[in-house]
Amino acid sequence: MKAYDGMYIGGQWRPAAGTDTIDVVNPADERVIATVPAGTAEDIDAAVRAARAAFPGWAATPPAERAAYIAALRDAMVARADEIAETVTAELGSPIGLSRKVHAGAPIAVAGSYAELAATYPFEEKVGNSTVLLEPVGVVGAITPWNYPLHQIVAKVGPALAAGCTVVVKPAEDTPLVARLFAELVHEAGLPAGVFNLVTGLGPVAGQALAEHEGVDLVSFTGSTAVGKRIGATAGAAVKRVALELGGKSANVILPSADLARAVKIGVANVMSNSGQTCSAWTRMLVHTDQYDEAVELARTAAGGYLAGDPHDTANRLGPVVNAKQRARVRGYIEKGIKEGATLVTGGPEAPHATGYYIAPTVFAEVTPEMTIAQEEIFGPVLSLLRYEDEEDALRIANGTVYGLAGAVWAGDESEAVAFARRMDTGQVDINGGRFNPLAPFGGYKQSGVGRELGAHGLAEYLQTKSLQF
Ligand code: NAD
Repeated sequence: MKAYDGMYIGGQWRPAAGTDTIDVVNPADERVIATVPAGTAEDIDAAVRAARAAFPGWAATPPAERAAYIAALRDAMVARADEIAETVTAELGSPIGLSRKVHAGAPIAVAGSYAELAATYPFEEKVGNSTVLLEPVGVVGAITPWNYPLHQIVAKVGPALAAGCTVVVKPAEDTPLVARLFAELVHEAGLPAGVFNLVTGLGPVAGQALAEHEGVDLVSFTGSTAVGKRIGATAGAAVKRVALELGGKSANVILPSADLARAVKIGVANVMSNSGQTCSAWTRMLVHTDQYDEAVELARTAAGGYLAGDPHDTANRLGPVVNAKQRARVRGYIEKGIKEGATLVTGGPEAPHATGYYIAPTVFAEVTPEMTIAQEEIFGPVLSLLRYEDEEDALRIANGTVYGLAGAVWAGDESEAVAFARRMDTGQVDINGGRFNPLAPFGGYKQSGVGRELGAHGLAEYLQTKSLQF
């Protein structure tokens, strides 16, 4: 057990204003592995002041120099990639292979993309007799969740720094350790004092103080829709910019011409990855009624390949969920699915292990579109199979939730899949198992959010325009 001290404010670790702490629990064995200070409004205020003081200098730093700092930060992350992976596994419980590849690998790729974009992005453009300047928005308050704890920090800090903004990050209470490690890397990379600041703390205390702070120009939030709505309302009342990356209930649409076995296998893998704690997971698999029974059997077999257990044992492909509350929530959804009449194909609410917040890989069949498990975000390793009669029916079901974050379409012919994808109300669609692209804009339609992250579109969120007429 390690008791961490201090907040990273103004280029140094400073004692927290209060004495309260937050326990960090390893979800695989339920032991407290560390404590971090629970920041207060006073800590947030100090961090925002430091970010404000650093803003003019950072905004005036030539983009090529900002790019060099971001590249140094990326290099620092590469050098400590193993430590990043171990830290995420310890506080989130993700299998170590996934931690290396995704929890360390994705933020490294994203930081690299912003080092490049900072150097190449056109921060000035000509429109007729005008020159449009793309200027940094100012001080960014970034509030991040625990599910991809470093990726979500870098997806905000990378573009903010590239744009010339300064930042205060309030990471999720479950995963503050990788955020602290990131602050160390920022320090190692030699970023000017105050450009990046970190305050650990509880959402309704430190998070709310950050969202409400009048010295913050843009609030960038990723997390639950409930909290996102509050943050949006607070920002709206203050006429402050806001970016919200919220929940999802994405559809994986398997058209009759698709390679069914491949589509089901990859669909199951997508839901089981990170114990289902992925906002863009394709948690609803839509299969034509003629192929439905075969798909159910394929899904049962595929889910059987996900052994839940110790994330350091590479035989296990499924770690625990993040905490006891999340486990209770996911179990509640599984029980509700059974109660509402869905068929439990495999898995269920019983714990696979006495210790650790594990959930068995769970597949439901005969799920109908209005059932709770087909409408609400579960955030656990739970897949629902729905049947459709024809393409119009599939589209109605795919678009029939309040969310619109991601999705997938499978067809024998790419153009057939693309034609379907064009009609989906969602921000990202993977065609026949398309790969993650760190430059592609990521964000939601409908209640899945406001704004986009990643790539040049993500950078644009941190810029405001000034036009000069000649
Ligand atoms: P949450 O929305 O409560 O927490 C996300 C972040 O917001 C954390 O840093 C938290 O401290 C902060 N926060 C909480 N209350 C706040 C407030 N009043 N003001 C300002 N900041 C506040 O999410 P959670 O409780 O960790 O997870 C609950 C559900 O949210 C999950 O089950 C899942 O459905 C969803 N979720 C979605 C994503 C996503 O990527 N879209 C990520 C995590 C969780």
